[in-house]
Amino acid sequence: MLIDAHIHLEQYQEKEIPALLEEVEQVIAVSMNLASCEKTLMLSKTYAKVKAAFGFHPEQALPSNIEVEALFDWISHHADEMVAVGEVGLPYYLKQDKSIDYHPYMALLERFIVLAKELEKPIVLHAVYEDAALACDLLEKHQVTKAHFHWFKGDEEVIQRMIDKGYFISVTPDCTYEMEIQQLIKKYPLELIMVETDGPWPFEGPFDNKRTSSRMMNHSIEVIASIKGLSTQEAAKMIIQNTKSFYNL
Ligand SMILES: [Zn+2]
Repeated sequence: MLIDAHIHLEQYQEKEIPALLEEVEQVIAVSMNLASCEKTLMLSKTYAKVKAAFGFHPEQALPSNIEVEALFDWISHHADEMVAVGEVGLPYYLKQDKSIDYHPYMALLERFIVLAKELEKPIVLHAVYEDAALACDLLEKHQVTKAHFHWFKGDEEVIQRMIDKGYFISVTPDCTYEMEIQQLIKKYPLELIMVETDGPWPFEGPFDNKRTSSRMMNHSIEVIASIKGLSTQEAAKMIIQNTKSFYNL
């Protein structure tokens, strides 16, 4: 059974969760904001397979200063109950629709990077295309080495930079129908790849109108195995091992 390296478990209905967890060995359950952190913590206490990450999702309006302080206090207080800081990053998709001031988003991300460094935890990043280079700048500035760029997309230059730094990526079930992701899998070393669903985010192609579940990652493993010239068992074993060692599971 696989490990889902990135899922928004608290966004599923409670009654869906036991069946979802039957399909996986473990999940890294990421958080969106303080209320989401609290729900994720509860899930991790209820289900042994759920490993919590606490953060603030960047694709939304910024929190107020009071909310930021409350969130950082809460995370520091619950640091022993999380495996990573996340999900954090930069609002690439939000920026496509309207012009936004990036400086406060950068400042918030930098604060999370400093927190991850202080707490000696890995960090889960939402930073795609040109934002990946900005995230790399901040990681390098603070000498943070344990970084996971989830659902990563980016150009050759940043891909090479991330490989050189040993940063991890994870691929979603869209690797079964997105050429861009298949090219990325070809270039990225297998020892730095994990699989995820970002569930309940919905997928297309063979997954049209299907509720996102970790079972979909079996298709991702088939794609990865065929690109890397391995059996699905070999690819799965390696990817599970990558996830365990990255998150200290
Ligand atoms: Zn996510």
